[in-house]
Amino acid sequence: MGKMVAAITLPVKSFLLVRIGRGGQMNTSKAEIETLRLLGGRLCLDFANTMDPRLGNHPCDYLRDYSDLLQWSLHVGLLAKDEAEQLQENAAQRPVEAATTFEQAITLRETLYRIFSTLARNAFPEKSDLDNLKAMFVRATTHAQLIPATHGLQWDWTERAPALAQMLWPVVHSAIELLTSEEVKKVKECPGVGDCGWLFLDTSKNGSRQWCSMEGCGSRAKMRRQYARKRANSSQHIDSA
Ligand SMILES: [Zn+2]
Repeated sequence: MGKMVAAITLPVKSFLLVRIGRGGQMNTSKAEIETLRLLGGRLCLDFANTMDPRLGNHPCDYLRDYSDLLQWSLHVGLLAKDEAEQLQENAAQRPVEAATTFEQAITLRETLYRIFSTLARNAFPEKSDLDNLKAMFVRATTHAQLIPATHGLQWDWTERAPALAQMLWPVVHSAIELLTSEEVKKVKECPGVGDCGWLFLDTSKNGSRQWCSMEGCGSRAKMRRQYARKRANSSQHIDSA
């Protein structure tokens, strides 16, 4: 994964400058991100699922620069439209910081994927990944306030906004919350047709959810089984002829 991230990140920097340079509008990847399915059940898992498929040779990466990160934040409801537009303007004025924030986002995403994918296989994550996440959590928490909620208190991340990295803080927080809860046992990785690799929280009553979605990976697997059965049947006919 590490190598792949470097390969994605490097050309993006110059691309980012070009894209932001065009008057700072939201741009071409908008339609794509709007179609991205949110099947993880937790913010941190949906963030890890911004590459589709996760394990194939030709994944579509929904996050290619800082503008995409803003679009994703809009898509999942982390930012309102005016906040995203303000951040896009700020990013245009501070392109180096925007590029660094984007790199941090990709590092976070890949760290989250490795941690939760390892846990889904009932193994323990690498210490370096957990240390990285902890460091990001410490940084994120310095921007948070405890505010009254319906039951007790809750974290609020808007105090020092707008900051270019503000959408990453609740993602990090969501990961820590999940990791330290009983629910972490319910994290699964979709086997897809061998390459999906999307993460999701199996909240079904009997813990039987197998696929990221029944309509997508579930129905593809069903079609494969039917096709294999048909082939087996027809080869039996040929054998007995
Ligand atoms: Zn899947």
